[in-house]
Amino acid sequence: MMKIKSLRIEERSSALPRKDFFAKPRIYFTVPDSTAPPKVNLLKDVFVPGVLEQVGMKGTKTVWSRKAGCKCGCTPGFIVQMEHNKARVALTHHDRRVHGQESEYYGRLITPFDVLVELEWAR
Ligand SMILES: [Zn+2]
Repeated sequence: MMKIKSLRIEERSSALPRKDFFAKPRIYFTVPDSTAPPKVNLLKDVFVPGVLEQVGMKGTKTVWSRKAGCKCGCTPGFIVQMEHNKARVALTHHDRRVHGQESEYYGRLITPFDVLVELEWAR
């Protein structure tokens, strides 16, 4: 059984080519070493909905892509099907409290971003 260890928003570098800088947000999962990494469907069904809620984009469609982060396929992830300006507004204006906790992202004005999620094995 896996659970989310940490979730953080990573703002994109303005040094990126314009097209990459403004591309739709990505969700990347980091998974502990395992002989059987979680299947894409497990990530999508179990973890992605909660991650979207956490960043104010609840219910937004996502598409898995092996090339989400790099053309060579080294950085697969989920592409959130929301234009970046809307995603940023959603992130900065979503409920101040998420799951009873103060959101550390509330009210922050941020540049285009990706969401990095670290998983861990639950005891
Ligand atoms: Zn690569």
